[in-house]
Amino acid sequence: MTNAVMAVKAIRGMNDILPDESYRWAFFEQTIQRWLAAYGYRNIRTPIVEQTDLFVRSIGEVTDIVEKEMYTFVDHLNNDSLTLRPEGTASCVRAVIEHNLLYNGPQRLYYSGPMFRHERPQKGRYRQFHQVGVEALGFAGPDIDAELIVMCARLWEKLGISGLRLEIGTLGNAQTRALHRTRLVKYFEQHRDMLDEDAQRRLHANPLRILDSKNPQMKALIENAPKLMDDLDEESCVHFETLQQILREQGIPFEINLRLVRGLDYYNRTVFEWVTDKLGAQGTVCAGGRYDGLIEQVGGKPAPACGFAMGVERLLALIQECGTVIHPPAADIYIVHQGEQAMRYAWQCAEFLRDEGLDVVLHCSGGSFKSQMKKADASGARFAIILGDDEYNAQDVTLKPLREAVEQTRLKLNEVTEIIRQANSNQQ
Ligand code: ATP
Ligand code: MG
Repeated sequence: MTNAVMAVKAIRGMNDILPDESYRWAFFEQTIQRWLAAYGYRNIRTPIVEQTDLFVRSIGEVTDIVEKEMYTFVDHLNNDSLTLRPEGTASCVRAVIEHNLLYNGPQRLYYSGPMFRHERPQKGRYRQFHQVGVEALGFAGPDIDAELIVMCARLWEKLGISGLRLEIGTLGNAQTRALHRTRLVKYFEQHRDMLDEDAQRRLHANPLRILDSKNPQMKALIENAPKLMDDLDEESCVHFETLQQILREQGIPFEINLRLVRGLDYYNRTVFEWVTDKLGAQGTVCAGGRYDGLIEQVGGKPAPACGFAMGVERLLALIQECGTVIHPPAADIYIVHQGEQAMRYAWQCAEFLRDEGLDVVLHCSGGSFKSQMKKADASGARFAIILGDDEYNAQDVTLKPLREAVEQTRLKLNEVTEIIRQANSNQQ
């Protein structure tokens, strides 16, 4: 028997993002930050854990998330029921109410970070995944719904994504949904034998949810169910029409999907999803809508709001699928050195060049020039600086281009920066 210690593994469905991949995330995050700033959205950061009640009250008791996907646990130190956030809107709304942010007028906000849902892990579906969410609170008109959608379309261009389909729908107001609900219950009751177990259970608690079912055997039944559009109230109808008009003016193609039911209960009026065929079954990369009742429902003064969240993993997969080129980061210079004096000199040179704004890797842990040069090559750096006794005595450096067949040169340290700036700007 060996004494080997069992290695601890990460939790299923929760991924490490390693350096060979994380630069793609960095590209995404930088693009997102510039894009949001351009539209005047400001960042809000809330805790990853909240009181369970917040999510139950906002997302809805009879939803997939609350019924079976939440990481809920008791904090044994004080018996509080806590939940790892499964989405960001509820926390954002809680913070806005708690700090009275709407007192200063409407707010354009965004958040980003990990969310947690206990789902079956598969491609595009994880237990810890990441969302960027954008929320416009205190705005009632369809112009803000349109702004959010137009922003998305611009972002896809910036990320090099093509072929996303925009689906929009409307859920009307509370009365519309109550009326629709009654008609749905009646319809599904007439076809009770065709409902699966989930649907039977939801028939009275939350019949709208049945429309969201992914069970192919219920597809035809759902197809023929009463349409919410037929009960739509006049104001919601105008709201929806205006939204469509702005989208047409802005040149954003869309499809109307009157069966769009979002997986959370808090939506009303506008709902939308951006969908791709390039990622298999997990094709929705971004989804959102209006939630005019939520702020009041969570204990705030009534105020309208609209927002969306995008799935970062799915978008990164799509960026890759679309062939967007993202360069892995590499240092400008890798410094190799041999000998006591050259080593001290190398530290000095490295700091000097970093102060000049260059990215410099200083070789550590010794080794022959040859093995150091191999490391320099493998690092992806554009240049090597070679320092030995000769260079130390002459107080200069040997600069060797690593990516082109150009001879190495001896030059003064303060001449290096200009050469590298030149090389970098030629590359762009
Ligand atoms: P789905 O129908 O795919 O389960 P959803 O309606 O539950 O999605 P939302 O709550 O609207 O998803 O979340 C917004 C976006 O977050 C989704 O469109 C998707 O891109 C992403 N997302 C949701 N759940 C996951 C998950 N478990 N893993 C990875 N991304 C996810
Ligand atoms: Mg889901």
